[in-house]
Amino acid sequence: MPEYKNKPYWQVGVSKPHIPIQNLPQNLPKSVDVVIIGAGFTGLATALHLLRAGQTVALFDAMSIGDGASGRNGGMVGPSLHKLGLDGLTRKYGAEKAMAILQEGMNAISYFKNFIEKENINCDLQMTGRFRGVNNKKALETVIRDSENLMTLDGFRFDVIERGDVPSEIGSDLYHGGVVYHQDGGLNPFKLQCELVRKVLSLGGVLFENTPVGTTQKKPGGIQVETPEGTILAKNVVVASNGYTKRFAPGTRRYFSKRLLPLTSAMIATEELPKETIDRLFPNKRMHGGNHRLVQYYRASPDHKRVLFGARGTDARDRASINGPVLKMHLCKIFPELEKVKVDYSWSGKVAYTFDHAPHLGEHDGLYFAMGYCGSGVTRTIYLAQKLAKRILGEDGYETAFDDLPFETKPFYSGTPWFMPPLLKWHSFLDQIEGN
Ligand SMILES: Cc1cc2nc3c(=O)[nH]c(=O)nc-3n(C[C@H](O)[C@H](O)[C@H](O)COP(=O)(O)OP(=O)(O)OC[C@H]3O[C@@H](n4cnc5c(N)ncnc54)[C@H](O)[C@@H]3O)c2cc1C
Repeated sequence: MPEYKNKPYWQVGVSKPHIPIQNLPQNLPKSVDVVIIGAGFTGLATALHLLRAGQTVALFDAMSIGDGASGRNGGMVGPSLHKLGLDGLTRKYGAEKAMAILQEGMNAISYFKNFIEKENINCDLQMTGRFRGVNNKKALETVIRDSENLMTLDGFRFDVIERGDVPSEIGSDLYHGGVVYHQDGGLNPFKLQCELVRKVLSLGGVLFENTPVGTTQKKPGGIQVETPEGTILAKNVVVASNGYTKRFAPGTRRYFSKRLLPLTSAMIATEELPKETIDRLFPNKRMHGGNHRLVQYYRASPDHKRVLFGARGTDARDRASINGPVLKMHLCKIFPELEKVKVDYSWSGKVAYTFDHAPHLGEHDGLYFAMGYCGSGVTRTIYLAQKLAKRILGEDGYETAFDDLPFETKPFYSGTPWFMPPLLKWHSFLDQIEGN
């Protein structure tokens, strides 16, 4: 059985910020303007805006910084255009709304790049683009046509990679061609999360780790929030718990857990490889994904020494020893030459899908929320957090194309997507027969 370090590669050599508050009842403020449940990108970026506007903010996270999805993802940024594509969205909402939803993706990445620059955040951001490979001629025609349809979006740019040019993009025989999207890039998500924590703390934000928030109850003067350290009264509460919403407070905030499908996304990082190998596999150091039905994403590490590969995790309990070998097998289908290469790190976390494949934000029954990024949240959390903060502050410019989308649930669904494992197995079977 291979020995993996069961932790995200992203933490190697990165020091976590010192969080001064000890989890003691006497340190819990009696009241604040805003309590935020969850200190991932959504919670932290919302806090940053609110603190700058002079609000008092207390953040609570049920785990340690770096243990939620924000500190352990693939670090891929981009427009994260909608999973349904232009055709699917047009069928569902009409042409105008479809374009407005897709344009939000472009707005998000442009906002994100400015944010990182303006805040002077060192998180190894490299805007190297993304290669989307496809393994047959028909799929290539489809991806080219879909990309052409997006050319009316502000800032959208792509290049077609024909079969003969594939080696200039990737050292794999799997692909028949593909497209390069130029608005994408990669970063170290743990570095980004740590930087956000430092900023929030320096602005006077109070952060409690390992402190799961229980019930929230409307009271005169605000909302009473229950924590293991006691209760705190908030004028406003933000729910930023995304894929972990049901796990830490199963009987509470059911409105949200009934609308989210928490799924495991898992990653591995190989041992350090020779420079020539990385240069051959990833000539342009882009982000990568294929036309697999089961999501797969991969890239070189920011220092260009390792291969990082991610996919749906087969083990919902986040056991590295179970997810790791399955991911290694998928990785070797793309790069057979990595068969003998050792995997050093294996880890996973929870993403939250929604029934309409769109993120949702707004206010429900006195609770503000932004969630349901469908596995693509690095860019969108930062963008939507700023929109949510504006909404809480009553500022202009909070509107998004997602605001009027109904946050759907399904009959009898209570927050555990029991139907997903067989569906994922079916998709895996289809991938096999389609040569992926
Ligand atoms: C392995 C993996 C790879 C991914 N790759 C990418 C990628 O390459 N690009 C991309 O765009 N997206 C990626 N994602 C998705 C992305 O990480 C998420 O969409 C994003 O981080 C969500 O941020 P968040 O702050 O909303 O949620 P999270 O970062 O998950 O934070 C939610 C926090 O809420 C806390 N919480 C929950 N309940 C409570 C409670 N009751 N009390 C207190 N705290 C609570 C949790 O402890 C958790 O820390 C990936 C995700 C994973 C897991």
